[in-house]
Parts: sequence; structure tokens; C-alpha cells
Amino acid sequence: METAYKRIVVVGGGAAGWMAATALASALPGSTVELVESEEIGIIGVGEATFPSIRAFHKILGIDEAEFLRATNGTYKLGIEFRDWRVQGEGYFHTFGDFGALAGPQALWGQLRRVGEAGLGTLGEQCLPSVMASQGRFQAPPEREEYFNYAYHFDAVLYAGFLRTLALQRGVRRTEGRIVEVLRRACGAVDRIKLADGRAVAGDLFIDCSGFASLLLGRALDEPFVDFSHWLPVDRAWACPSERSGTELAPYTRATALEAGWAWRIPLRNRTGHGHVFASRYIDEDRAREQLMRQMDGPALAAPRLLRFATGHRERFWVHNVVALGLSSGFLEPLESTSIFLVQSGLGRLIEQLLPGAEPSAEAVAGYNSAMVRQFARVRDFIILHYRLTARRDSELWRAMASMALPETLAFKIHAWRQTGALHQYGDEGFDATSWLAIHAGMGHWPERPDPALADLAPGLALQALRQRRDSIAAAVAAMPSHDSYLRSVLAR
Ligand SMILES: Cc1cc2nc3c(=O)[nH]c(=O)nc-3n(C[C@H](O)[C@H](O)[C@H](O)COP(=O)(O)OP(=O)(O)OC[C@H]3O[C@@H](n4cnc5c(N)ncnc54)[C@H](O)[C@@H]3O)c2cc1C
Repeated sequence: METAYKRIVVVGGGAAGWMAATALASALPGSTVELVESEEIGIIGVGEATFPSIRAFHKILGIDEAEFLRATNGTYKLGIEFRDWRVQGEGYFHTFGDFGALAGPQALWGQLRRVGEAGLGTLGEQCLPSVMASQGRFQAPPEREEYFNYAYHFDAVLYAGFLRTLALQRGVRRTEGRIVEVLRRACGAVDRIKLADGRAVAGDLFIDCSGFASLLLGRALDEPFVDFSHWLPVDRAWACPSERSGTELAPYTRATALEAGWAWRIPLRNRTGHGHVFASRYIDEDRAREQLMRQMDGPALAAPRLLRFATGHRERFWVHNVVALGLSSGFLEPLESTSIFLVQSGLGRLIEQLLPGAEPSAEAVAGYNSAMVRQFARVRDFIILHYRLTARRDSELWRAMASMALPETLAFKIHAWRQTGALHQYGDEGFDATSWLAIHAGMGHWPERPDPALADLAPGLALQALRQRRDSIAAAVAAMPSHDSYLRSVLAR
């Protein structure tokens, strides 16, 4: 299909850049796609945990799962284990599965509440992937009947390389060089970019994937940054890989709450990725690094690396003929591994606008921008919820998070849940009601009274159905292979 933009230039070759180049070259065969990157500058190389939407992205591009896992040291991800978030010593899973079809999660909760939860165990036992995760097992659901969702962990540097090979096979041209200047037309649009060796790359549409540098949208077009740090104060991370411990390969990410942030643990096949995301206003860098080293599975495989970031996004994502994707457009701290998902979401919306063959109207561009602003806000609210529901008061970060003023959109959702057990959803949500329920339940945050609409449901029947569901999930999981052995069978294909 044709697009008005014949020459598309992608600036930057991290995960965002190569995702964009591959997808645009596949979707718009009538255009040339050229990607400019600098080996000397390199890529950020963190971002090892993903969101299930990545599977749809791979499917559209025809990526074979086994080939991808082999190339990236990848593992399966059922969700995230949260440790010490409500109080120290407690934990819960947020996995990509539901809690049953008993007229929705609110109904389930209502019944549980009315019957006093006798003998039911935890809500997690009603969720297949949560039970799989807790036992270290994995088995993909059949393609035609995906009764739960899953994602991956991978080596971010290898992933960018994997996509690069694919993009080059699909006709993307790669130009190596350091960009030193962005030249604009009288109307404000970008005309070309100049490289350090004097060459210039001209284009009709520029996709800014230059990472935190935000060379085009941030620096050249000076688009203002909307700062979320008053809600999400973490602004630094130490990242360090370690040797794998002798234990089984976990099919989930772990996020452990610490004094002034949280630590990630991401199991890959050849190593474990570790990091400590922290708020520099509450802890100094040395102490944060020491806390990370205490979390490690085994001996470090490299020196810890410090990353600095701001949480928020550019006011607009598409200005003139520049569309920013990835870190150049904004960043939400990695608690729910949403950055690559946000790249994918922006890319999907962009391709929709480019397909019809005409230059997108001002209304279409404004629609793109407001959808992306909403999408960032929805994910932001979901991440804040994890902190907000804490009962921890043992350090400044947790005391501040428990009492801060919330975005109105989130305040309303928390109110609706507390009042009646309603899980309100706006448009452009990244996380469905089940995910919101998993966090409320995991953090021990329940409505003050049952939903009156549930008054007619018979508690005895619900209790019986829940027990049956729990038992059949337990039996199904007991018959599944370990994550390690399932993965080995896939890699051998
Ligand atoms: C601490 C931390 C943890 C994260 N964890 C996750 C996670 O678990 N899951 C997740 O989905 N995401 C995560 N992310 C985000 C993830 O790292 C990024 O979204 C992803 O890697 C894409 O990055 P990018 O392509 O936008 O930028 P980069 O990888 O930084 O790529 C930028 C590109 O621009 C090029 N470039 C820059 N300046 C110039 C120049 N002057 N000339 C030429 N080229 C230039 C660079 O060479 C590079 O190729 C995390 C981020 C951080 C900071």
C-alpha cells in the first residue's frame, strides 16, 4: 500500500528504532526506510522484560518464537512477583491471566467477601498463570485457544541485533554515523540530518528513536516535557547482570520493594539481569548500589552501570513531520515493563495513519497525540497504584507515596473500587480490569462493601465453583513441565 511519505528516516537503532524500521518497511513497501545509528554512541541496552503485546508484534512480522528465543537468550514471562510492596515479608503475583468467569472479578470478590473466604486460599490460586509462576512451570496455551497470555524476557542488545537482521532482510537501509545537526524547512518541518563526516540524510518523515537524547523532537523542535516525577519520583537505576544461581529458571520477573525504590530480577538463559530503580532525593547513589549488590543471585558479570532518567513524556509525540517513539518520546519507570509496549502502540497508530495514501490531516495528527497522551497517563496511573496502596511507613519514599495527591483519573478509580468494587476502565487502557484487580487484591485493598448487584447471587454456589476452579487449576499445573524443560524443548525445534 502507498503512503504520502516516500522517504522515511528512522533516527536511532535501539529496540525502538529497529522495531519501527522493521514494521514500517513491512507495512509500507512503497516507501524507502533508512535507519541512521551510531555504533560509537551505542544503545541503552536495558529493557529485558516485556508485555504480552510483543507476541502480536512478532506474529504480524512473521517472527518464529523459537528462532527469536535462541537469538536473544530469551525466556518466558508469566508476569511479575511483587515482594515487600504492601509490607515487608509479603508478596503477590501480577500475571497475564484472569480470575475466572464468575460474572467478572467484582462478582468473584463479592462472593468471597460474603462467604468469608473460608478455605479458599488466595485469589492467586484462582489464576492459572499465577499458580504456574509460583511453581516455576510453563506450557504455552494452544494458539487457537489462548486462555492466558504471556510475554518474554530477553537480552535487549541481542534483541536490537535480531530485529536489525530482520529489517535489513526486508529492505531497510542502514547508515552508520553520528548526527551533529538537524536542518529544518521554513515551515518548521525537518528537511535532513547532517552526520559528523559531512553526509546528509534527507527524508519526508522522520521517526525519532534517538533514546533519551531526543535529538529531533526534544532538541531540534524543542517540544516541552511533561514531568511526572511528583507522582513517580524514581529517577536513577543501577543495572548489573549476575551469574545464574543454581535454582530453576523462574518464568517471571521479580520486583522487590526497597528503602527508596525497588529491585528487578530478570532470569535469562545465560545470566540474571538485576537492577535497582531508586529516587535520588531519598537515597544516595553509593548506598543504592550497595543495596543492589545485596540482591544479586550470584557473582556480578560486569561493573554496575548507572542510568539517569526523568519520568514523563513530550507534550506532543508527532510534530510537523517528526514522530518520536521509545525513550525519545518519554519514559515511565520500568515497574510493569511497558516501554516496548508503548513503542508498539505508537507504531500501530502511526501505521494506521500512513496507510490510506494521503498525508495525514492536522486532525489525525492531533488524534494521534491525544491518544498517546492518554495511553501514557493510563500506564502512569497503574504504576502509581502499586506504590499508593502500600502499608509501609519505614522510609521517606513509602511515607510520601502513601500520602501524595493523586492524578484525578486514578483517584476516581480507587474511589470506585473502594466504594462498590467497580473496576472502572477509561479508553486507551494498557491494563485491563483483571490487572487492576490483581494489584488491589495483592495489596490487600478491598471494597468497603459488596456491590449491591451481587445480592442475588448464591454464595454457596459461588464457593463451590471457586473451589472447583482452584482444584482444576492445581491439577492442570501439576501436569505441566518446568519452565526450564519446556524452554529446552522449544529451543530444540
Ligand atoms: C532502568 C531502565 C530499565 C528498563 N527496563 C525496561 C523493561 O524491563 N522493559 C521495557 O520494555 N523497557 C524497559 N526500559 C526501556 C527500554 O530500555 C527502552 O524502551 C528500549 O530499549 C528502547 O530504547 P530506545 O530505542 O528508545 O533508545 P536507545 O536504545 O537508547 O537507542 C537510541 C539510539 O539512538 C542513537 N543515537 C543517539 N544519539 C545519536 C546521534 N547523535 N547520532 C546517531 N545516533 C544517535 C543511538 O546510537 C541508539 O542507536 C528500561 C529503561 C531503563 C532506563
